[in-house]
Amino acid sequence: MGITLLDSIGHAQLPTSRHFRIEKLADGVYAAIHKPGGYGICNAGIVDLGEKTLIFDPFISPEAARDLLRAAEALTSYPVAYVVNSHFHNDHIRGNQVFAPPATVISTTRTRELIAQHEPEAIAAEKDYAPKRLKQFQAALQAEQDSLKRRELSLMVDYFQALAESNPQLKVTLPNQTFDTQLILRGKDRTVKLISYGKGHTESDLIMILPKEKIVFTGDLLFIDHHPYLADGFPEEWIAALNNIGKLEPEILVPGHGPVGQREDISTMIGYIEMTDRLTRQIIREGKPIEILSGLTPPHPYDTWLLSTFFIPNLRFMYQRARGEVK
Ligand SMILES: [Zn+2]
Repeated sequence: MGITLLDSIGHAQLPTSRHFRIEKLADGVYAAIHKPGGYGICNAGIVDLGEKTLIFDPFISPEAARDLLRAAEALTSYPVAYVVNSHFHNDHIRGNQVFAPPATVISTTRTRELIAQHEPEAIAAEKDYAPKRLKQFQAALQAEQDSLKRRELSLMVDYFQALAESNPQLKVTLPNQTFDTQLILRGKDRTVKLISYGKGHTESDLIMILPKEKIVFTGDLLFIDHHPYLADGFPEEWIAALNNIGKLEPEILVPGHGPVGQREDISTMIGYIEMTDRLTRQIIREGKPIEILSGLTPPHPYDTWLLSTFFIPNLRFMYQRARGEVK
């Protein structure tokens, strides 16, 4: 699927793709936001460092990543030198193979270990279950009338379709440059800082800071209008990481999922984690069993968030955690 650089009357415009929408954040800095029906799933970033280009979180599928590469080349006129993986989840790393080699793929040391540990097995398992789950979600979508539920189911269809279609061409492409707490990348025109606060959404997450532009690409430490996935995470450290991001006083935040946001979105995200903790502790205090959680629905303002399929598993995780049954 190609990108388009000119509209019908020849005006220059931002590259387009069926997988994502490009949003210009500053000169040389772009967010690529997942588009419904596309195979991006997460959000990516394109940063012109000056004579070299950086890609942040290259999507779930090589197909979407190929469009991202074309968009980056069109926007910056320079080759992609760096690809950054914010954490090990498949939707943020599977595009690596489109850029590397020759690009250098950067992550934390622990994220590289987690990719090496999980990916071969995940890709093998998806070969079988992704087409099955795809059929289930397609059938559910066809039967659903409610517009919010249809948007939700469409996103799950996109996710499993991306997995099923890309499976035969996937090659595990590990990061080949790693760090633990901080890495500064200096280009001719721009410097970016990669920072890891350690545990959060996963055992190891990193964020990318553009100090001059006051922009932060957060990876999945921040979700906007989407339920986060808590069960690989560490809620206390996650909240601490979000507070640290707030202290950077960013003006623009690019979340792992959802639209580009602002500093206020950090407290909404912290509120979500605290809400799941409060709800489950209340149920434990009342002596109710874990099964009761299945009947709960997300409270306002989270009742319109997508990825609501994570809500019950999130509550179960927080319940088991509060009882000391999981880490
Ligand atoms: Zn994630």
